[in-house]
Amino acid sequence: MSAQWTDEQLETSARVQNSLKIEREDHKLEKRLCREVGRAIVDFNMIEEGDKVMVCVSGGKDSYAMLDILLKLQKRAPIKFELIAVNLDQKQPGFPEHVLPEYLTKVGVPFHIENQDTYSIVTRVIPEGKTLCSLCSRLRRGILYRVAGELGCTKIALGHHRDDMLQTFFLNMFFAAKLKGMPPKLVSDDGKNVVIRPMAYVPEKDLTRWAQVRDFPIIPCTLCGSQENLQRKQVGNMLREWEKKHPGRLENMFSALQHIVPSHLMDSQRHDFKNIRATGVADAEGDKAFDAEEFGKPLAAAAPPGQAVIQLVSA
Ligand code: SF4
Repeated sequence: MSAQWTDEQLETSARVQNSLKIEREDHKLEKRLCREVGRAIVDFNMIEEGDKVMVCVSGGKDSYAMLDILLKLQKRAPIKFELIAVNLDQKQPGFPEHVLPEYLTKVGVPFHIENQDTYSIVTRVIPEGKTLCSLCSRLRRGILYRVAGELGCTKIALGHHRDDMLQTFFLNMFFAAKLKGMPPKLVSDDGKNVVIRPMAYVPEKDLTRWAQVRDFPIIPCTLCGSQENLQRKQVGNMLREWEKKHPGRLENMFSALQHIVPSHLMDSQRHDFKNIRATGVADAEGDKAFDAEEFGKPLAAAAPPGQAVIQLVSA
């Protein structure tokens, strides 16, 4: 009998190897998602012993993934907390209202569907051709805050991820002239709720893949027929382009949001520029007034601070 493999056997073996590789990658992804969500929860003290967390589920990939990962973490967490999934059925035409109840029943999480016809309100109030999203989101927010109170929830979890946060940061800078992002944890504007974003550290591409792996029954978010937020779309494209050309840039920018140096910005409310005085005491960790490395010339590193400044001025 020949020991040589037939073409068919070789193909089968390649297929098996490939599916094992995909399985390993997906397992790594699951571990990474759990680690990153767990890290955000700990870093910002998002969930505490005895919390009842209202997990807002829209039917999009992000909120499905958030619920999925929180359910996994709930089983292993050293603290006890409750999860309740909440969906707001806004009565958009064509919304498949059976999908979420079926899914939530299948995964065995307590849930509540809040039925509120905000669709009729926004389409009545907003002139045709204008985007509906701003009023729609405001109404949704108010309803979810009320529901959280009625259900006795202590935290409201939203499914925004790292890329949403970066986009918001740039949108605020470009269109609102503010250095302001999307916080991982905040007190709601009605002062009654604590809102958390457990997926703050998770890149969107991981959620896209996880939605495929878990085969979530996604409900498209464009059912209402509203135009997409063009500015957000443009900023999203810009960030993706940057990442493509300079891999790692998004991670660096995200990290920068956690390492702010108010003395090196220009907001007098955050730093008392007016009263700055020389201390007369050298500080090895102090400012060099010029970060030479950034410009490829190790000038300040070689010279004492004062001399470096003189060199700069006379250059
Ligand atoms: S896309 Fe539709 S459902 Fe979503 S916020 Fe905009 S108007 Fe509301």
